[in-house]
Amino acid sequence: MKIGILGGGQLGRMLIQSALKYDDQFYTLDPASDAPCHNISYFTQGNFNDYETVLNFGKDKDVVTIEIEHVNADALAELENQGVKVVPNSKIIKTIQQKILQKEFYKTHNIPSPEFQVVWNRDEEITMPLPFVQKMNTGGYDGKGVQLIKNEIDLQNLWQEASVIESLVDIDKELSVIVARNENGETKTFPVTEMVADPKLNLLDFNICPVFLSEDIQKQIDSITEKFLEVVNSPGLFAIELFLDQEGKIWVNETAPRLHNSGHQSQEGNANSQFEQMYRVVKNLPLADTDFLTFSGMLNLVGAEGFEGNVIYEGMDDVLKMPKTYVHLYGKTETKPGRKMGHINVLADSKEELMEKLVKVKEMVRVIA
Ligand code: ADP
Repeated sequence: MKIGILGGGQLGRMLIQSALKYDDQFYTLDPASDAPCHNISYFTQGNFNDYETVLNFGKDKDVVTIEIEHVNADALAELENQGVKVVPNSKIIKTIQQKILQKEFYKTHNIPSPEFQVVWNRDEEITMPLPFVQKMNTGGYDGKGVQLIKNEIDLQNLWQEASVIESLVDIDKELSVIVARNENGETKTFPVTEMVADPKLNLLDFNICPVFLSEDIQKQIDSITEKFLEVVNSPGLFAIELFLDQEGKIWVNETAPRLHNSGHQSQEGNANSQFEQMYRVVKNLPLADTDFLTFSGMLNLVGAEGFEGNVIYEGMDDVLKMPKTYVHLYGKTETKPGRKMGHINVLADSKEELMEKLVKVKEMVRVIA
């Protein structure tokens, strides 16, 4: 099959890497000439937000998919009209692209997500009590486009554009669950993972699996994933980001209609990875089993503050000497502060050992220039 991917970043790269054991041809579209997929696929340099570019890129493919959701969904709808298979479909991409539509989707389908108010312009009265979170309708990514409004003073910083005003959740844990559905309607769910946030150690970039949850909490999550997979009405792989609040209630924060950073540990930690699953979704094959094999965790390798230029991975030899530790780099030559350059997966026999190993790896390696 000729498989086209909008976006040529690390998610696409790892999908292709995983799928190379099968017999397909991968095509990618990305504005950056040195995108992580540029030298491992048939690469087109171009803007995936441009209608004509996406149409031209997709028209001779058997299937077109995405590795980023900020793409021209109208062009994808036109490709569907022309008989090209688009996974996930343009309708769900459009819904998820806009926070307002996404929040209304949850409400319509009784999927618990924090209470919200839609604000279209600056003159509207805000009825949500302080403190609250403001989320831009479009254009948000990696925490940008989200701000906390704590008090009257903060109100002056409100963005004057279409946005969602959302009640503040008293978060105990941030969890994620990756679900998949193929065209035949078969579904599979990955075990829940947890983002470990310890402000003291600044461990904001750990993601671990499995997470032991009470029966009641697991039930809430199961009912969310079942409902989502039932109403999504599209083949696809989706990452549902969840909040567990201090009272033991689960809320959906947001959903990504694609491969996700919170699923990287599945590369070595689970019977099959999110990338294998995505491949199977795209080809409408039987879905893969997702069981976890052992304790696993992931540390993002992000560019350190104060360094910009040709990347150097300081301490990598020490990491490579560690047992059951796996380095994944994204083929990016230039680092800058906060840029995701790669990640390291770690396996362990217990949660304690896992956390110890992750902290050790975090202290060992630095992404500098
Ligand atoms: P992005 O898609 O840019 O990552 P998110 O919507 O996930 O943005 O928000 C980023 C972070 O902000 C979340 O991981 C969470 O820590 C915090 N956050 C978002 N919404 C809420 C909320 N309603 N209550 C409390 N914290 C929130």
